Amino acid sequence: MKIETDRRLGHEWDEWNGQPLPNAGDFRTTTGKYFLFTSLGIAAIVTTGAAAIYLLTPRLAQLATWLPSALYLGDVMLAALGALWLALIGLSYATDRALLPSRFAERGLLLKTLRLSSRVGEVFGVQRDWTDNAAVAVYNRLAWAREWRVRANELLILIPRCLSRTALDGVMDIAKRYDVATFVATRGAYARQAIRERRPKAVVAVACERDMISGLRDVAGRLPVLGLTMQLPNGPCKDASLDLVKMEAFVKKYLR
Ligand code: SF4
Repeated sequence: MKIETDRRLGHEWDEWNGQPLPNAGDFRTTTGKYFLFTSLGIAAIVTTGAAAIYLLTPRLAQLATWLPSALYLGDVMLAALGALWLALIGLSYATDRALLPSRFAERGLLLKTLRLSSRVGEVFGVQRDWTDNAAVAVYNRLAWAREWRVRANELLILIPRCLSRTALDGVMDIAKRYDVATFVATRGAYARQAIRERRPKAVVAVACERDMISGLRDVAGRLPVLGLTMQLPNGPCKDASLDLVKMEAFVKKYLR
């Protein structure tokens, strides 16, 4: 492994082997991966539940004869609700409409499936960044479908320390033009601290897929967030680039 003194890896990349990232660190992909791996994850949970009930049936029946049947019914209901929920998320995504209350979608249940989808993807040999990218795209589409406007001084742009000079200049230019405060978060904990202290009413966050998933799980349940993932042509945590057109669109989306 090549030792580089000017690259400080975030803990999300602890296991990086120093080799160039797949597709030059550009993990933009189709959202099918999120839907496929989430549905497989829900199916695995339901199947595991059914197998556990089956194995424990003699003992459960000793407690109450109706207990195994009731648990099977619960498992079937879980499967049906999971399928219905994912279908509604898919329909919301496809139609650009918020069909579910936010706590059942991007500010609640969806956040709980983010890790599930990437873990299932890894079981099938798909590097988590691809699935995370798909999940963030689904999240953003649902978040975008809600109307939420704030004043410029109520919006916060959160950026990581790994942006290239060009990307950083571009972000600062957008922040200046729209008069929005920007905070460079050297670690996820500092980003959360900045949110606690500044109390923004909406956030536009920039991060790699891994850091974005952690951040969304921590923050998106409490306030509206749009998340922009980056490209990592020089590997993780150094010289990241981003889509400045999309960045500006995210900022404008929240401003009155
Ligand atoms: S956002 Fe940048 S610095 Fe943070 S973990 Fe990702 S690549 Fe590393």
